[in-house]
Amino acid sequence: MISQKTLFLNLLAQTTQAPLLLEIESANGVYLYNNNGKKYLDLISGISVSSLGHGNIKVIKAIEEQSKKYLHLMVYGELVQTPQVKLAEKLSAYLPFKENSSIYYTNSGSEAIEGAMKLAKRATGRSEMIALNHAYHGSTHGPISLSAESYYTDFYRPLLPQIKRINQNNLEDLQTITTKTAAIFVETIMGEAGYTPPETAWLQALRKKCDETGTLLVLDEVQCGMGRSGRLFAFEHYDIKPDILILAKAFGAGMPLGAFISDKKTMSVLSQNPILGHITTFGGHPVSCAAALAGLEEIIQKKLWENALTIEALFKRRLTHPALSTINGKGAMLAIELPNQEKCLEFVQTCIESGVLIDWFLYAPHKVRLSPPLIINEEEISMACKIMNQVADKILTE
Ligand code: PMP
Repeated sequence: MISQKTLFLNLLAQTTQAPLLLEIESANGVYLYNNNGKKYLDLISGISVSSLGHGNIKVIKAIEEQSKKYLHLMVYGELVQTPQVKLAEKLSAYLPFKENSSIYYTNSGSEAIEGAMKLAKRATGRSEMIALNHAYHGSTHGPISLSAESYYTDFYRPLLPQIKRINQNNLEDLQTITTKTAAIFVETIMGEAGYTPPETAWLQALRKKCDETGTLLVLDEVQCGMGRSGRLFAFEHYDIKPDILILAKAFGAGMPLGAFISDKKTMSVLSQNPILGHITTFGGHPVSCAAALAGLEEIIQKKLWENALTIEALFKRRLTHPALSTINGKGAMLAIELPNQEKCLEFVQTCIESGVLIDWFLYAPHKVRLSPPLIINEEEISMACKIMNQVADKILTE
C-alpha cells in the first residue's frame, strides 16, 4: 500500500523542499496526535488560528447544527443568512464603529486585504498606498504588492504600482503619507517580521497623520486580533482606532473566514456606481459564521485576552535557559531571539522531535515563534518550557 506520506508528496502541491510531514490523526485541546499515537503540544495554533484549542465543543456543535440547516445558498450579500447577521450583531458591539459598523465577510485574510485595497481606492478616489517594510498581508497579488520582501515577490512582477513603504516606529517616515495616499496598511503588531509591537507614540502619530491627510488607516489584525495580543483587538493597547479593520485566522474559530470592516459610509461605495464593488461566492459561509459566533462567544465569556497576558508572563518566567532569555512580542505572540537562522531551524526541529510544536517566521530568520492556543494552562506551559529548556541545553550551549 502506498503510504499517506508518499501520496501527499506526489499529489499535493509542495511549497517547500522540506515539509514537516507529521501525519496528524486527531487533535484535542492543546495536543495534536500522530498516526502512531505520539502527541505534540501545539504552541503554534496552526499559525495563530486555533486560539480555542482543538475540538472546542461549542464550536463543533454550532458547525453541526448549521450544517443541518443549510450550507451554501448564494453569493455574498444577496440573501439574509442568519449566521452572518448574528455574528455581525455580536461582533459589532466590540468594534470601534459599533452599530455604525459595516462588515464584509471573506474566505481568508488575503481576500480581506484585497477587498480593503479596492475599498480604499473607491472611498478616497486616490490610488497610492503605503505599507510597512517587512509587512506580511497575504499571498495573492494585492497583498504581495504591499510587501517589500523582494526574495518572495520579484518573480511575480509586475505588481501593483504606486505602493510606497515606510518603517515601523520611524516618525520621520510618516511624511510619506500625503493627500495623495488612499490608505496605509499596518499590522497592529507585526507578524512575520517577528512579533514586533509598535511604539505607542508612533502609532498615535500615524493616526494623526492619516486624519490630517484624509488617508485611511487599515489595521491588519489577522494574526494579532481576537484576543491574542492581550486585548480583544490589538489596537486597544494604543488608544487609537482604524478606519478599516481586517480579521481572519482565529476569527473563524477553525473554519475559513475573514472580514474587512469599516463604518457604513465608507463601505457604501461598494454598492453603487458600479454595483457589486466586491464579489465572493463563499465569503461568509454560513457554517464558518456559525462557528465564528460560537468562537467569539467563548473568547468573550472566558475573557481569553486575559489568558494571553498570563501566557506571556508564564513563558517569560519559565523559559529559564540563558539562551532563551531574549523574548519579544506581546500576549500570546512571543518571539524568542536566537543567534542565527541555523540555530533557529535546529531548535524548532529538535523541539518538534521532543513533542513541542513551534515554528519560525518568514521575515525574521533569527527568531522562533510561539503562538499557543489561548486555553493553554500553567501545567502545559511548564511542560513545554521544560522541554524547550532541555533542547536549549542540548543545542544552544557552546
Ligand atoms: N495578514 C496577516 C498579518 C497574516 O499573518 C496573514 C496570514 N499569515 C494574512 C494577512 C493572510 O491571511 P490568509 O493566509 O488567510 O490569506
